Amino acid sequence: MLGLTSIAAGQNSRNKTIQERHENIKKMIHASQNKARSRFDGLNDNDKQLILSIEAQIDRAKTSLVKCPDCQRNMIIVHINQIDVDYCHFCQSCWLDQGELKTISKLIKDIPSDHLPDRPAKHDCPICQEKMTELVFKRPYNLLVDRCKSCRGVYLEHGELERVLQLR
Ligand SMILES: [Zn+2]
Ligand SMILES: [Zn+2]
Repeated sequence: MLGLTSIAAGQNSRNKTIQERHENIKKMIHASQNKARSRFDGLNDNDKQLILSIEAQIDRAKTSLVKCPDCQRNMIIVHINQIDVDYCHFCQSCWLDQGELKTISKLIKDIPSDHLPDRPAKHDCPICQEKMTELVFKRPYNLLVDRCKSCRGVYLEHGELERVLQLR
């Protein structure tokens, strides 16, 4: 019991600093919103907020050891929905370790079904260097994700992250 209580207390203070950080990001978003508006034609408000919040983090983000499966540049670490995610700001793609997809999307599992159609992906896993598999999330998801069969990490290309965050 005691252990659980102290873990919960630690998480509370961590959540608080994350909240403060989010407040700061929001302020920066407000400041940049007017000049940024035209870039977001066709995106909904949540998507815009997401992209702006990532952009607001780029300058001070730490460099990740993970290399982008597409352009091979080092990714950076950004906070999305309170977790650290490897993000490539050149291709606007991101790498999620096992379990992170369900955490940021509020899915129950990373991959909602074990029986999704798949085919060889064009990217190699940035952790295992093995060829990944492209999974087709059909309706209601309409999403393509690359997944590594070994480490179960997931690579999302440009535009897929926004859709993933709407998955429930
Ligand atoms: Zn890249
Ligand atoms: Zn892997």
